[in-house]
Amino acid sequence: MFRSDCHIHTVFSPDGNQTPEQMLKAAAEARLTEITVTEHCECNGNAALPDGETPWPDLDVKSYTETFEKLKEISPIKINIGIELGQATQGKEYAAKMTAAYNWDFILGSLHNMRNELDFYYIDYKGKDLKKLFSEYFSQLYETVSFGGFSSLSHLYYPVRYIYRAGMSVDMSLFDEQIYAVLELCAKKDIGLEINTSALNDKYGDFVPGLKYAAMFKDLGGKIVTVGSDAHRTDKVGLGIDKAYEMIKQAGFFEVATFEKQIPVFHKI
Ligand SMILES: [Zn+2]
Ligand SMILES: [Zn+2]
Repeated sequence: MFRSDCHIHTVFSPDGNQTPEQMLKAAAEARLTEITVTEHCECNGNAALPDGETPWPDLDVKSYTETFEKLKEISPIKINIGIELGQATQGKEYAAKMTAAYNWDFILGSLHNMRNELDFYYIDYKGKDLKKLFSEYFSQLYETVSFGGFSSLSHLYYPVRYIYRAGMSVDMSLFDEQIYAVLELCAKKDIGLEINTSALNDKYGDFVPGLKYAAMFKDLGGKIVTVGSDAHRTDKVGLGIDKAYEMIKQAGFFEVATFEKQIPVFHKI
């Protein structure tokens, strides 16, 4: 049975913990038939890191792609080579440079921080106006999708996992109108929607996005859905893939997508 994880980080990402070989072994153990590696390319450099954090070096494209090209020759699991392009609108030249640096199979579009703000990972949410924060987040996410240049939109409401980790909660339906606009634009531009499984075993405990927004995407004419664990460690590879496929089916999709040279390939689920 086809099972694919389209969002994986290895040590080629500064926050990745394990080698390509270790992640591939984990993929085999998780009975995946295909993986897509998506190492970080943060287009705004280190602007969203707090003082004192070790700066992130740029992705070493040559070493990254050569390593995986070699692994492709011996791996029983199909490997696609991609990047996670963060904050493209905050570093448009860098985004263009990284996009052109290799014939990527897949480019995930992400927004990990708002302009002149820390990465959501580092924000202290106590006392924050979450409604204002999400409203601003979705408006900058809309800009990111308008700018485009990627295959699938990653973790639609990224800050949620950190807000729940901080012991707080937020009603996402407050932002339905903005989410609708983002999903409508993705559908119109043939950009995929990622179902990110990373918060499944976390305090948040659901997919990002969940069924409601996957179904909204379908209603809006969305055709491309990708599923990724966002694994930075071996124990997360393939997390919740089967459950995610079930959820997508409930939302009305009968196929999941992977990408080769940025062209979607559809697989019956
Ligand atoms: Zn990461
Ligand atoms: Zn991300």
